[in-house]
Formats: sequence, C-alpha cells, structure tokens
Amino acid sequence: MTPRTLLLAAGLLLAAVPATRAAEPAKQARPAAAQPAAAGVYRFTVGEARVTALSDGTLPLDIKPLVRGLPPGQVDALLAERFERDPLETSINAYLVEAGGRVLLVDTGAGQLFGPYGGKLPASLAAAGYRPEQVTDILLTHVHTDHSGGLALDGRIAFPNATVHVGQADLDFFLDRANIAKGMPPRHHEEAVATVGPYLKAGKVKAFTKRAEILPGVTAIPTPGHTPGHAFYRVESKGESIEFWGDIIHVGPVQMPHPEATVTYDIDQDAARAQRLARFAEEADTGQLTAAAHLPFPGVGRLRREGNGYRWVPVEYRNRE
Ligand SMILES: [Zn+2]
Repeated sequence: MTPRTLLLAAGLLLAAVPATRAAEPAKQARPAAAQPAAAGVYRFTVGEARVTALSDGTLPLDIKPLVRGLPPGQVDALLAERFERDPLETSINAYLVEAGGRVLLVDTGAGQLFGPYGGKLPASLAAAGYRPEQVTDILLTHVHTDHSGGLALDGRIAFPNATVHVGQADLDFFLDRANIAKGMPPRHHEEAVATVGPYLKAGKVKAFTKRAEILPGVTAIPTPGHTPGHAFYRVESKGESIEFWGDIIHVGPVQMPHPEATVTYDIDQDAARAQRLARFAEEADTGQLTAAAHLPFPGVGRLRREGNGYRWVPVEYRNRE
C-alpha cells in the first residue's frame, strides 16, 4: 500500500464522520472508538514452531481506484457478493514464529507512518507475551511502509537484537534516490531510509538474491513483481510448513476470483500478475498452508480452485491448548 491511497481512504473516512455522529443516538455512554480494541493475536503451531499472527490494525481501503484490469462496476459487484462495499476494511498482518531457539518476525506493520491507521504491532506483540528485544530475526517480505514501518520508532531501532533479512533488489530499488526521477514516490525512498537505514548503519541487514535457506528451516523465496525484491518465506518444522505471502494479494473478494487483476501498488504490473497466477496455481495444487499480510486477520488459510480463479479457505478457529 502507499501513503497516498491511504490518505484518500482517510479522507473518505473523515468526510463520513459528521454524518455518522449526527445519526447516533443522543445518549451513548461511551463512543465505540474510545473502547479498548481487542488484542490482535492468534496463535497456532506448525510442527514444533509456535506461530502467532499479530494484527497491526486495519484501514478502510478505497478499492475501485486501486484495482487494475477490472471495470469499477464489476469490482462493486464482487464486493457486494461478499456483503461488502467500498472502502473495504483491510487488515495489516504480521507474524511471529518461535522455532529452534529463535524468534522470527515476518514484517513489522506500519509503525508511525500511516497516520491514524496501523501501528498496533507493539501492542499485539505485548499481548502475545513477547518483548521487542526477544526478536532475533526480522523477515521482510518487502520494503513498503506497511511492512517495514515498524522497524524504527521515534527514529530508533525498535528491535535492538534483530537481524533484518530482505531481498537485495528491494534495498537496491528503495534506497536509490535516482529511482525518484524514474517515478518512485519520494516518500517511499525517505521511509525506507528511515526504517531500514538504522539497521544498515548498524550492520544488521542480511540481504538475499536467490532462493536460499537463510536460517535453519526458513527459506526465502524471491517472488518479484509487487516490488523488485518481494519474497515469500517458508518455515518448515517436523514435516509441516507454512508460507508467508506478503503482498501477492491485496483484495481478497476481487483478486481471488480474478487473480489476473492487479493493484496500483504493484510496481511491475505484468510481473505481479504472472507471479500471482503461478504461485496460486502451485499453492492450490499442494494445499500449502499460507499466511497473507492483507487478508482478514489472522490471514491464515489455503487456496482452492474455483471457476477461473480461487477461493480462500481460512483455517478453522481454534482456542484451546
Ligand atoms: Zn502491503
């Protein structure tokens, strides 16, 4: 996601506030917004790995200007089929994996960079019983702000004992000012410098250029398209596995039935489309357990083929030891 579209979404939301307030009953003991949010935490196991989905929050996303390749009327119809409409409430999910004595964090949420949205990861992490100092490795799916924004808070490294793993192509792209002249929004560069920069200065970034086992049982799988260095991470334990997807999909109700549709955030539209079509076909064939950054929290499930597209099958909720 990009801050510009978020601001559009924020503008829509704010514009709606006076009307909503006027329609509220005069007597309301406590506005809903003032009530404490539920903890955004969901824990499960993959083999012997303990995985915790952590919500960074949600935001109202204006879908029609975002989706490319489908007429706006069809986007509306697809949303209506799911009893939804524009703007679509969209999750920002991160995942913590405790395995083999390491504490891995897949993406870090938006931190302080998305205005009123996102930034709940530290609270979710605390609710899950972890401290930022315990995180040994951060696995960045890519350098967009809603995934890397939480790396630094108040200009300081937020995870002091962590090494950041990231695709080299994303470092090359986002940290090169010259790409602004080629169309990269200046904020993308500035935010990358502010978030990844402190870790680079501290010598705490390990970049990869090809598929590789970067830690025991953890494989980085480059999936360029959405960004040049976009990557999945696959975690295996005792014959079970999960793949962390990052931004291979943004709008479930639209891109599941129409995986050929792209979003404006995809830096290379053709590559992003081809990547999704190839990965979805493979994941549906294997029934791979996956975790997706922007599907409804906790964003954990599998793909089933349906018509010319796919159906997202979330895992069944489980709340016991
Ligand atoms: Zn994203």
